[in-house]
Amino acid sequence: MEEKLKILILEDTPADANLMKEAVHLDNINFISRTVVTENDFQCELETFEPDVVLSDYKLPQYNGLDALEVVKKKRPHTPFIIVTGTLDEETAVNCMKFGAVDYVLKEQLVRLGPAVKKALELKKEKEQKELAEEALRESEEKYRMLVENANEAIVVLQNNRFQFFNSKTEEITGYSKQELLKRSFIDLIVPQMRDEIQKNHRLWMDGAIEVGVLQYRIIDNDGNIKWLGGKGVRIFWNNQPAMLAFISDITKRKEAEIALSESEQKFRAFFENAPEYCYIVTPDDRIIDINNSALKVLGYEKEEVVGESFFSMVFKNSNQKMATELFRECKTRGQIRNKEIDIVTRSGEKRSVLLSADIVVNADDEIVYSLFVQRDITDRKEAAALINEQGRFLELFFSYTLDCIIMMDQDFNYIRVNEAFAKACHRKKTEFPGKNHFDFFPSEPKDIFEMVVRTKKPCTAVARPIIFQKNKKRELSYWDWALVPILNANNDVDLLIFSMRDVTDRKKAEEKLKMSEERFRSLIFKIQAAVMVYDSNKKILMSNTIARDLLGIQRDTKTLERKMGAAWEFYREDGSILPEDEYPVNRVLKNQELLRDVILGVNNPAKKTIVWILVNADPVLDEAGYVKQIIVSFVDITERKKYEEKLRELNQELIRSNRELEEFTYVVSHDLKEPLRKMASFSEFLNSDYSGVIDEDGISYLNRIQDAADRMKDLIDNLLEISRIGTRKKELMVVDTRRLVEDVLRLLQFRDNGNFNKGSKRFDDTNNNTIILSRLPSVVADSTQLFQVFQNIISNGVKFHKPDTPAKIKIKAKKRGEWITFSIQDNGIGMEEQYLEKIFVIFQRLHTKDRYAGTGVGLALCKKIIERHNGKIWAESKIGEGSTFYFTLKKGISHEIKR
Ligand code: ADP
Repeated sequence: MEEKLKILILEDTPADANLMKEAVHLDNINFISRTVVTENDFQCELETFEPDVVLSDYKLPQYNGLDALEVVKKKRPHTPFIIVTGTLDEETAVNCMKFGAVDYVLKEQLVRLGPAVKKALELKKEKEQKELAEEALRESEEKYRMLVENANEAIVVLQNNRFQFFNSKTEEITGYSKQELLKRSFIDLIVPQMRDEIQKNHRLWMDGAIEVGVLQYRIIDNDGNIKWLGGKGVRIFWNNQPAMLAFISDITKRKEAEIALSESEQKFRAFFENAPEYCYIVTPDDRIIDINNSALKVLGYEKEEVVGESFFSMVFKNSNQKMATELFRECKTRGQIRNKEIDIVTRSGEKRSVLLSADIVVNADDEIVYSLFVQRDITDRKEAAALINEQGRFLELFFSYTLDCIIMMDQDFNYIRVNEAFAKACHRKKTEFPGKNHFDFFPSEPKDIFEMVVRTKKPCTAVARPIIFQKNKKRELSYWDWALVPILNANNDVDLLIFSMRDVTDRKKAEEKLKMSEERFRSLIFKIQAAVMVYDSNKKILMSNTIARDLLGIQRDTKTLERKMGAAWEFYREDGSILPEDEYPVNRVLKNQELLRDVILGVNNPAKKTIVWILVNADPVLDEAGYVKQIIVSFVDITERKKYEEKLRELNQELIRSNRELEEFTYVVSHDLKEPLRKMASFSEFLNSDYSGVIDEDGISYLNRIQDAADRMKDLIDNLLEISRIGTRKKELMVVDTRRLVEDVLRLLQFRDNGNFNKGSKRFDDTNNNTIILSRLPSVVADSTQLFQVFQNIISNGVKFHKPDTPAKIKIKAKKRGEWITFSIQDNGIGMEEQYLEKIFVIFQRLHTKDRYAGTGVGLALCKKIIERHNGKIWAESKIGEGSTFYFTLKKGISHEIKR
């Protein structure tokens, strides 16, 4: 059902109100109405009744139309207000219309009311619709504004390169504030080198040559950073002028990545195209996508012939499918293949050997996109190797059997071949090496040196380089001589590297030891008191200590003593004669490898201007082959000793001479004394026998005493002669069995052998019950006659000086002490006071009178002389009343000589 129109009527005359209603009715308007008179009612109905149209009288008793219009405008602005009046002039009407009434109708012309209401309602409707539309527009504008403001890209309207509009993202991207952007031309932001181009381009936009287009700018932002901006532009009209609406974002990161990518692509391309190796890009299903020039050249194809074809059939020809699948499988599972030696076949059927390497390229889903195959041609190298083999199989044998480590590697230091010695040194198998890189095994090796060899194409050697085999704990630090030699091909490029190494650890250690011992030796020769000089086999002085240099008067830098000597010095023998050159100590050692011991030489010391006497020892130092390597000459200054010895010798000779004179004198005197003595004895005997009747008893007694004295005199002279002869007699030293000698002595002294006594000793007795115990006695070197005299004298003294009523008991023993034998002859006789123990060895010295004990006092003096002549010593120990022991020493005789 159609809704009824609500009409609020403000009219104080009810008839007029009815007329109005009628008039509206007449126009077939279906309506309900309320009629009010007062302001209060009017306002009330306006609220509650919600009229669609207000019809108002202009003049009311308590209210008026204009005020009512005012209220409607405020409270229901869309409700049309029509003035219905009877006395309204033109002016009032205009006034009402001015205030917002939609129409006015005169009461006299109420027929117009119906159409006026209709028209007012239409107007209202129109107005409402317009408002709605306006609202909608406003809302949609807000939405776009929000969109633009929050867009993730800069949205800009540019007109003649000036910012007409831009969102806040624009500020963010450019780094400039709104004000700054408004002030600036867009061109100012562009990098200078791009400005012209952009300006030209912009003109095209403005002229309408471009409607829609892709934009790309490089700008400098407010912080000075260069940014890549990119986006889309649309040609629009802005304020009736052509403009460009641009949607721009910061694409710097993407752009940089693109550049990097394209650089790497370029690099890859460059490598791929120019690599001397044969390169192929192959799909997982064995189709060649790309192939480089080297590969095309060697295979003999054009690119078009190869791309899209099977890699395996193109490159390996008739080789079997099995190998292909095997290669792909290996590539897939391990992601790479390294230096697999394989043959390829060219179009013409020629076979070439290559080292094949491959890498796979996968996409984000880990699927293989393609494989890159790289082949290094080693045919020439192999042929060269084969040639070498033909030319000399010994080289191959040498390679295999030499103890030096030899490695062949390519210019990237990948092993091609290693020999057994190297494998052994690494504790690995030979087959483990080919294809592996040297620096994977020896990361600490000096790669720069290797690279230098490749770069300079010059060999490099090193001596005793320390190397640590890291995985081999046994080997620790070792030293190696090594040589790295580049082998160049016909193009003068490094084709191969031969790396040879020799373990010199032992040599190095020996050298170090030698160095240490040399140092020790050196420090020793500077410490010792002797002069030391060390020569090499060319007689060059290697070392000399200060003492040596002082003694010889040479400078520290003197290198060749011999040469100097030839000019300024001479060596002298002890007898003063000049030593011939071939007898120089150094020459003697060099010539005969002999050790020189205690050679006395005189040398002219130019500094001291005297002859220095030296006692020289020299020793050769032999090398392993037994040749003289060095000569160590040591010597001491014996000049002082020599002087002293000289003096001593002179004195000795003097002494010998005077002794001889004395002995001769004694002999002559003794001999001459005997003659008158003999006369005294014989004439006194004549007197005694021929004149016994004439001479009385006293005379006879005197004569007897003369005879006794003469006899005694004779004994003395004989003893003297004996003594004097000892020195003049020639020495006849021999090995003497002393036991036998003593036994002979005892027999002479009338002793009898009484057999074994104890522990090999023998006992001898005489008729007076004197006993002698003779121990085992050794052999000595002596003059036997004289030794006989010694024993005879000492034993007979022991018998002679026995205690009254006590028979003598004598023990004869011997003790060894090194080379010397000490004999002891112990008696139980009367003994002597200690103070006389030396005196008894002096000639004619006796402790007793000749009446008590017969004797001349010569015996012990004789013994002393004999023993000292044998370089021995003689002495006695004694105690009065207890007995005496006589000792003497002699040199031991050698046992095997005794038997002879
Ligand atoms: P002689 O026996 O002819 O007197 P010696 O030269 O043999 O001369 O001895 C010198 C002296 O040494 C002896 O006179 C004696 O006084 C003393 N004498 C030597 N041997 C012994 C002894 N075995 N016991 C005691 N006195 C001794």
